[in-house]
Amino acid sequence: MSTLIQALITPPMAPLLHESITRQAENRPEAVAVVDGYVRITYGELEQRSNRMARALVNAGCDKGNRVCIAIPKSIDAIVAVAGVLKAGCIYTPLDMSSPPARLARIVKACEPSVVLASESALKTLHSALDLFDREFVIGLVDGEALPDWSGVGSFSAGEIEAQPDSALEVSSRPEDVAYILFTSGSTGQPKGVPISHDNVEAFVAWANRYFAVSTEDRLSGHTALHFDLSVYDLFGTFYAGAELHLVPATASLLPTGIADFIRDSRITQWFSVPSVLNFMFKFGVVERGDFPDLKRVLWCGEVLPTPALVYLMQQLPHVQFTNLYGPTETTIASSYFTVPEAPASANDDVPIGLACDGESLHLLDESLQPVDAGVTADLYIGGIGLSRGYWRDEERTAEAFITPLGDSGHGLPERLYRTGDLAFMDAEGLTHFVGRTDAQIKSRGYRIELGEIEAALAGIDELVESATVAVASDGFEGKVICCAYATQAQNGFGPQEITARLRDQLPEYMIPARWESYDALPRNPAGKIDRVALRERFESQVQSSS
Ligand code: AMP
Repeated sequence: MSTLIQALITPPMAPLLHESITRQAENRPEAVAVVDGYVRITYGELEQRSNRMARALVNAGCDKGNRVCIAIPKSIDAIVAVAGVLKAGCIYTPLDMSSPPARLARIVKACEPSVVLASESALKTLHSALDLFDREFVIGLVDGEALPDWSGVGSFSAGEIEAQPDSALEVSSRPEDVAYILFTSGSTGQPKGVPISHDNVEAFVAWANRYFAVSTEDRLSGHTALHFDLSVYDLFGTFYAGAELHLVPATASLLPTGIADFIRDSRITQWFSVPSVLNFMFKFGVVERGDFPDLKRVLWCGEVLPTPALVYLMQQLPHVQFTNLYGPTETTIASSYFTVPEAPASANDDVPIGLACDGESLHLLDESLQPVDAGVTADLYIGGIGLSRGYWRDEERTAEAFITPLGDSGHGLPERLYRTGDLAFMDAEGLTHFVGRTDAQIKSRGYRIELGEIEAALAGIDELVESATVAVASDGFEGKVICCAYATQAQNGFGPQEITARLRDQLPEYMIPARWESYDALPRNPAGKIDRVALRERFESQVQSSS
C-alpha cells in the first residue's frame, strides 16, 4: 500500500497519550474500553472518570510535571488513575506493593511524588513505610471514604474524586513531556528511574498498531503489572485503536489452565506477555490443537522464549501469528521485532530479535564504536525515537548508558545511543540475534534483576563474611534461577532461612535466591576475585541433578 493511501485511511495519532481516550470518547463513547472480570468501563466513562481524577489531583496541589505514585492493583481504578495523572499534566510511577517497605521507600524518595493514589488494600503497607519515605505527599484514596489519619499526610477520598466535574481540564502538556517513570533494578541497590515521554510511547504504539493492524474489533490482553512497560502498550495500544483491553486476573496464573481459560473465555485476539507465561502453558500442555479460535497474534518481549515452547504453540495454533519483540525499558517497550514465518526445525534454533521498529535503529559496535561485520558478536546499541532522556536525576549512570558518538567513530551513527548491555550479532539476512549479557543483569520469570541489587542487600547482613550471587538456567518455566554462595562465622546454624528472612526486608520475592551453598571461604580466581564461573558451574550441576 502506498504511504499516501495508508496516511489517508490511518487517522493521525494523538500526540499525547491520554488524548487517545478523549478521541475514542468523542467518536464511540459507548464502546467498551476495559474489562476487568465482571466490571467494564466504556470510553465515555473512562474519559469522564479520568477528567474527575485529573481535577482532584490539581485540587490537591499537583502541578504540571509533578510525580504521582500509583499504589493500586491493576484494575479499572488503576487505569483511571494513570489517565487522570496524564490529564493533570503529571508523571505516573506505579509502585509494586508486593515490594518490602524499604524498597518502596527508595523509589518514593527518588521520585518525590506530590500525591500517592492508593487503594484501601495498599494503605497498611504505605503506613508501615511512612517514616522511611521522608517525604510529604497527599494520599488520594480511590476506592474508599475512610481516609487515613496519619499525622502530616493530607488526603482526599473516592467520594471527593467523584464529586469533581466531568469536563476536561485545560493543561498545556507537550509530546516531549515525561508521561511515566518506571524503576528497574539497579546494580548498586538503588533502583534506576527511567523517564519516558508521551512521544516515546506514541512512536512505538503507532508502529505496533500499524504493523499488527490493531482495530476496534480487537480484544487485547492486559497481563503485565503497571510497573513494567509492556503494560503501557496494553493500555495505549488499546486506546489508540479503540479496542478492548481485558485485564488478566492475578488468579489466572495460579492454575496451569488459568491463562488458557482466560484467553479462550475472553476471546482475546492479541496476547502480549513475557515468555514465562507462554512457557508455562507449554510445560503443562494446556493448549488444544486449534484452541483459541479468536486469537490472531501472540507477542512476547523481555527475554528469550525457549524454542520448544514456541514450536509447541505454533503447532497447536496454526492460525496465529507469533512475534518476538525486543527492547529495554530505556528505549520504550520494544525496539525490534521478528515475526516467525514457520516453526523452527530444531529445538536448538534461536529466534532472531529481528529488525528495528520504525524510527528506531540497532547498532552492533566494537569498543571503538565501529560497526562490526555480519556474524560477529558485539555490543548492541539502540538509537532513535524511543530513547529515554536518561535516568531520573542520575547523571552518572545516564552518561554511562546513553552515549553521544561524536567524531570519526560516530560517523553514520545517530546522535544518541543507548548501550543495552546485550550482546548480539547480525546474520547474513540482516536480522539481529540476541546472544546474552555483558554484565550481571538477568531475567527471571520476566523480572529484570541486577544481581548487584541482591548482593547489596546481602552485604547489609552482618553475620555474612562474604557472599555472591549467580544465575543459572533452569529447566522450569521461570528462566534463570538465582543462586547464593555465602560464608558465615555466625554460630547457631545461621543459614538460608535466616538470610532469606533478612533479604525479605529489602527485596521483592522474585529477587530472593532459590538455591544456597555454604562455604568456609568463597572460591577465588587467579586474580583473587570471587570465582563466579566456578560458582556457576557448581550450581549448574546442582540444578541439573535435581531436575
Ligand atoms: P526490560 O527493561 O525489563 O525490558 O529488560 C530489557 C532486557 O531484557 C534487554 O536488554 C534484554 O537483555 C532482555 N530482552 C528483552 N526482550 C528480549 C527478547 N525478545 N529476547 C531476549 N532478551 C530480551
